Amino acid sequence: MDIFGHNGKILRVDLSRRTIEEEQVPEILYRRYLGGGALSLYYLLKELKPKVDPLGPENLLIFAASAVTGTPALGFSRYTVAAKSPLTGGFGEAEAGGWWGPELKFAGFDAILIKGKAEKPVYLWIKDGKAELRDASHLWGQLAAETHAMIRKELGDDRIRIALIGPGGEKLVRFACISNELKHFNGRVGLGAVMGSKNLKAIAVRGEKKMPLFAPERARSVVKEVLETYKKNPGTMGELGTARAVMPLNAGGILPTRNFVSGSFEKAEAICGETMRDTILVNRGTCYACPIRCKREVKVDDPYKVDPLYGGPEYETIAALGSLCGIGDLKAIAMGNQICGAYGIDTISTGTTIAFAMECFGKGILTTKDTGGIKLEFGNAEAMLQMVEKIGKREGFGNLLAEGAKIAAEKIGKGAENYALHVKGQPLPMHEPRGKTGLGLAYALSPTGADHIEAPHDPMFASEAGLKSILPLGIIEPLSALDLSSRKVRLFSYLQHFYNMFNSIGLCIFTAVPFGPMPCNALVDYVNAATGWETSLWELMKVGERQSSMARIFNLREGFTEEDDHLPNRFFQSLEGGALEGKKIDPSEFKQAVKAYYQMMGWDERGIPLESKLAELELDWLKSERI
Ligand code: SF4
Repeated sequence: MDIFGHNGKILRVDLSRRTIEEEQVPEILYRRYLGGGALSLYYLLKELKPKVDPLGPENLLIFAASAVTGTPALGFSRYTVAAKSPLTGGFGEAEAGGWWGPELKFAGFDAILIKGKAEKPVYLWIKDGKAELRDASHLWGQLAAETHAMIRKELGDDRIRIALIGPGGEKLVRFACISNELKHFNGRVGLGAVMGSKNLKAIAVRGEKKMPLFAPERARSVVKEVLETYKKNPGTMGELGTARAVMPLNAGGILPTRNFVSGSFEKAEAICGETMRDTILVNRGTCYACPIRCKREVKVDDPYKVDPLYGGPEYETIAALGSLCGIGDLKAIAMGNQICGAYGIDTISTGTTIAFAMECFGKGILTTKDTGGIKLEFGNAEAMLQMVEKIGKREGFGNLLAEGAKIAAEKIGKGAENYALHVKGQPLPMHEPRGKTGLGLAYALSPTGADHIEAPHDPMFASEAGLKSILPLGIIEPLSALDLSSRKVRLFSYLQHFYNMFNSIGLCIFTAVPFGPMPCNALVDYVNAATGWETSLWELMKVGERQSSMARIFNLREGFTEEDDHLPNRFFQSLEGGALEGKKIDPSEFKQAVKAYYQMMGWDERGIPLESKLAELELDWLKSERI
């Protein structure tokens, strides 16, 4: 049978045994799981025993592109890395854009499954259908940029794409990330630490193969139409990047400030996208086949040296290292971003964990005796930078914060737990749930812990104009961002299926509706033209729904219960300052909404998927895995 859009082949690597094997994947698996998050869950649930140590050799580390990654359409640049998370102890998944995912496909494989642990540091080199493990002893301890340059030099090709870890991953920082091209990150849930635990420093890929398309003309015409739509209305994403969100969020009173105490930051203008454009921005970066070019590249000469090599801070980084820590210094934030990139640690978790420590410091729970003399106060940019580096090196007090806010708070005691803002161990991203109730549900219910891209956010659907792009989902009436009725639960669950599908098909959220130019129907047309499947929006959404139930079962097997579907107490208390001053979430209304979500998902009152729901999702094989 001819295969279109993908290779139909994965690579299995056993680092303990130093074996590499190819495996054919039946077409039906691609259609049922698409790739990315859902395909990773398929292998994790089949092959990973529950309760293994996430940093032990048994953990299975998966790099998965999708059935259409690397085909020539904007947005299909993304790939997933998945494993059991060392940060949450549950399903760990993070996606990245850039060029690595498409290049893996060009090199002949759709995914890589890695188990075991190498005796000494290695990297994996895949070129045109062939793969080998190479010694990485000389790379161990090197920062990201040095590692990148050394591998390219060693292999003699500047077009090699490399996914790698920095010293943070080697030292098992629980929120270490994986980067490709130094600027694109599988940022969250600590997958860089899983890679480090396996003594795997990098995966370099290079290939010449182009993905065959079922109907190339039809695919080209869909892409042409989407590009024309984009040209007519490019918006500000290219010009300002994700940092364009700073000023509107601040005006709306929902810019996370000083560890989520407030939603309004007096120095917001100093750290916004417009200021970045006018001061330190030197270039706009992009991902495979994308004309939007939303990525930032910044340069600072004084008082810090920031190299565009590491890109530039995204909105999440600006808020995490900026307003959340009370810091209004864009150059310091750019420097913090670079240190995180060099050491390979997630900027969101780094900022959130430092903000947690700053609040503890302000309350006297921590003193300079604990922090090694550092005055860890809100607004102290130098202290933030010192702490970022110490986390990356696991040095001094940084060694404790490298465990993540949850574990650090448990070890500190003295009430520190009240200031560690996380869900399932994953520190909160930079969006305020008291102003977006559906986002609150996303944080509480995401299987990977607090996740800001579990679903698009509520304000977008509060007006007729905002709804227009998602009418094909059957959402036709506007709903207030603060509504928490069963109508909001329905909206959230549909949007969650939609974004899960994006994760599995490897599509960037900024290139398709509701943010980007690709409409729902064009997305379906394109997938059909690429694969020849004759699929529909309904079938693609079902993959998204399937993914949620699979992830739920993964977490149930690990001992998670409905008690873990919660929000930190801070969000049931009043916001201070700003446009939403005094706003808080009603705890019983929130609990009710979580229960309504279980029912809509076909889960019982404890959040366990019903047998009939599993049958409907073609997940009968998971019946006995329910706890
Ligand atoms: S919109 Fe931005 S993140 Fe998305 S593919 Fe384009 S450049 Fe990459």
